[in-house]
Order: sequence, then C-alpha cells, then structure tokens
Amino acid sequence: MKNPIKYLLSGLFLFEAILCNAEHNQKRVLTLGIGHESNTFSTVLTKESDFIILRGADVLKGEAWADVFKNADIELIPTLHAHAWPGGVVERSAYENFRNEILKDLKKAGKLDGIYMDMHGALHVEGYEDAQSDLIKEIRHLTGNEVLISGSFDLHGNLSPEFVKNIDLITAYRTAPHRDGAETKARAAQMLVDAMKFGWKPQIESVVIPILVPGEKSITEVEPLKSVYAQIPDICKIEGLIDVSIFAGYCWADLPRSAMRVFVVAKDKKYGSAAKKEAIHLAQQIWNSRRKLELDVPSGSIDEMIHKSEEYTGKTVFISDSGDNTTAGAPGDNTQVLDALLRLNSKNALVAGIVDPEALKACIDAGTGKEISLVLGGKVDNVFGKPLKINTTVLYITPDSVMKTNRGAAVIETGGVKTVILKTRRSFVEIKDFKDAGLNPLDYKIVVVKLGYLFPELRDIAPVHLMALTTGFCNLDMRSLPFKNVNRPCFPLDPDMVWEPF
Ligand SMILES: [Zn+2]
Repeated sequence: MKNPIKYLLSGLFLFEAILCNAEHNQKRVLTLGIGHESNTFSTVLTKESDFIILRGADVLKGEAWADVFKNADIELIPTLHAHAWPGGVVERSAYENFRNEILKDLKKAGKLDGIYMDMHGALHVEGYEDAQSDLIKEIRHLTGNEVLISGSFDLHGNLSPEFVKNIDLITAYRTAPHRDGAETKARAAQMLVDAMKFGWKPQIESVVIPILVPGEKSITEVEPLKSVYAQIPDICKIEGLIDVSIFAGYCWADLPRSAMRVFVVAKDKKYGSAAKKEAIHLAQQIWNSRRKLELDVPSGSIDEMIHKSEEYTGKTVFISDSGDNTTAGAPGDNTQVLDALLRLNSKNALVAGIVDPEALKACIDAGTGKEISLVLGGKVDNVFGKPLKINTTVLYITPDSVMKTNRGAAVIETGGVKTVILKTRRSFVEIKDFKDAGLNPLDYKIVVVKLGYLFPELRDIAPVHLMALTTGFCNLDMRSLPFKNVNRPCFPLDPDMVWEPF
C-alpha cells in the first residue's frame, strides 16, 4: 500500500492543479469607454473637465452590462470610462490623456480574451482625422487580432471603415429618442460572452447610406423608420446572424464619415453574404424613404410657433429651440426665443433654461424677491446669439447643496415669462430637471426647451410639441450649414443624386 500521507498530498496537489486550471480558464475582459458627440460647427472646445470619468469598481456599479459579464463568470478589468454631454470638438490633450491611460492599463492587464468598448460613436478630436480609429488601432497594436472586441454605440454615431475593420462586434441603440441605452450595452456584453464561449469569428457587413439626417427627422417611433427598425429582431434570428444596427448618424459633424449606416454582424465569414444581403435590403428601404425623413411635429419660425401655441386652448405647448439644442452639442445660451416671447408679450411662459454662470451669480448676490438688471446669455454662442438686457425679479435659487453641483440654477421672472438660469450647459430632458428648479412644466402655457426632439419622459407628457427652427450650431436645415468635408454627393445636400446600396 502506498504511503497514506504521500497519497493524501498527491490528491491535494491534484485538486490544487484543477483549481489553478479553472482559474486559468476564466475568461478575462477589459473594459473602456470614451463617449462624446462632437459638433464640428460649434466654436467651443470640449475640455477634459467636461467629462465624467469613472475608473475601477466605480465603472461597474449598477451597470446591466457588467452583470452580464459577472453572470458568465468573466473576470472584468475596468479601465477609464469617460463620457461628456454633447459639445464642440474634443481638446486634443483630453483625448490623448484618456487614450494613454487606457493603453497603459491594457499593457498591465496581462492575457485578455475580450474587450468591451462603451462608446457613443460621434467622437471628434482636434488634430485627429478620426480619433476613434486611432484608439482602436492602438488597442489592436497591443492585443493583436485574437482578442475579441465588442462595442456599444448611440445610433447617432459615425463609425469609419478603419474603425469597423478593427472591431469584431457592433451594436447600437434601436430607439431615438433613446429608451434602450442599458439594454444595448448589455447586448454588446452578451454578444462578447457568446462569441468567446462558442468560438465565433464574427464578420461585420455594412452599407453606408449617403444621407445626412438630424435626429429630429429620424425618430424610430414614427414612419418611415419605425417599420425599418421593427425588422431588426427577425433579422437577428436568421441562421448565422448575431445583430443588426441602423445608425442614423450624427449630422452636425462636417466629416467624411458622417452618414447613415447599416451593420449586420454574422457569427462567421461563411454567413457574410447573408449579412450583406440583409444590410443592403435595409439600406435600400431607408434610401427609398429618404424624402419622408421629416419632422414629426409642426415647425416654423419662433414667432410662428409662439402664435401657433394659441391654437391649443388649455394645453401646455412645448417649443423646442432646436438650433441651440445642447443635447446635440450647442452652447445653450442663445436668448432669441426669450427675446421673442418678451417682444410678443407672452404670458405664462417658461424658458428652460439659459446657461449663464455669471448671470446666476448676480441672482445669488441679489437674493430671492429682488429686482435686478441682467445681461443674459449670448456669451458662449456669439455667432448666432447676443446678450439680452432685461430687468427681472429673482424668484428662486437652488439650495447651496445643489448649487455646489453642476445642477445649480435660479428662476427669474420678466413680464410674465419665467426663465431658468443654469450654472452649466445642459438641457431639460426629464421631469426631475423641472422639479429641481421648483417647477412643474404643465403649469405653463408655453415651455421652451433647448432640445430638438423631446426626450422620452417629456415626449410622454407633452400635450403639444412644436419645433422652432432657430439658428444655431444645431440648425435643422442641413442645407443652411457650411458643409465642406462630408462625402458628396449626399442627400439632402444633393437632392437629386442617384444611388443604390452596395
Ligand atoms: Zn443619440
């Protein structure tokens, strides 16, 4: 008989070896993100301080995509995730700091099986032709081609062929206004988990559709796109196909890559032709309906929209100041709508809001209930806007605890028109934004927002929505913008062009 102690020890070694092997086989995924929608018409650079940056465990907190990886017993190595509110082109040093930190962590990470990129897709950086491609090429340079890379995107992204060549799995939001952000990111994670598990070698087929369309004319809840997006789930069920993304693109970027796109991801190159066929079919439908890509609400000049609001007796009318839409990168300090409301002697109107930290400080210094003179707005957007001189009463100032954050605000009243003055650039996109300033939007006849389309919560409660076609860095009239670098011909800049998908 063998020495029992030796026997026991050898058993222990074997057990340890099995454990080590199990540990060794645990898949490892590194995560990163640089998300920004960069408006190349804006004169204001987006700086590093404009980004919300998360690192380490903070990245994963409360994220459904992180749970997908954890549930699949995948070890996560979260690196920098930086996201900012849409704005002008990103400062070169900000991007390079982010990229270098990600690459440094990637070098330290050891052997990886996958990478998850939490992106927006419309990033543009000063001095770079295509920073997103730069980032993924640098990553590939370190990882080689064996590591699978999966990315989630806003459907308002513009992904170049160079970028797509280096990524394995792509998925984008299927709703605009966006209702499926968390779901999309979780899908990108699940695709990566499945690809690693089943050993897929994904192939992405795409069609670039030469259309420049603002989000306001490519809403997925209305035709013509509603029925096109509705086909996605069925196409994903076709043998060998994994996912379909229809990118409306981001039109306020004067770049060669700005366009609509369809991506179909196949499990393997043998399903490439099936993927291409579906991409062409979707692209053809979109192209055929290009002249129907129009606003889904009445639109016109500011004065026309203010007069039109009177037609809706007893109903609150939301009016979008669409040229100064901060959710598409505009500065948010244009006063042209406030000026028109005062000139037309509007009553019971609310302007939410105008960004002006200087004017906000003047309100704080004066205190609530005080009458003051203000020179409001027109300080950042000095191309389309100009400061407005008003005598006004300070009605409300957010508490100190809120004022310390970027949600600080004051409410002033001028001749029947209330205006929210904001500390930092943002738009009122949900009911909470009004509540925080002590306001209920439905108390007013007119509510002006610095948006194009209304975001889901407001879209769901707004009795009426009108689109004021104001001037600004987010002008909805594509043909009035000074495009120089987009690929031509494209619709609607070249309205009679002939094209077919390929
Ligand atoms: Zn978007």
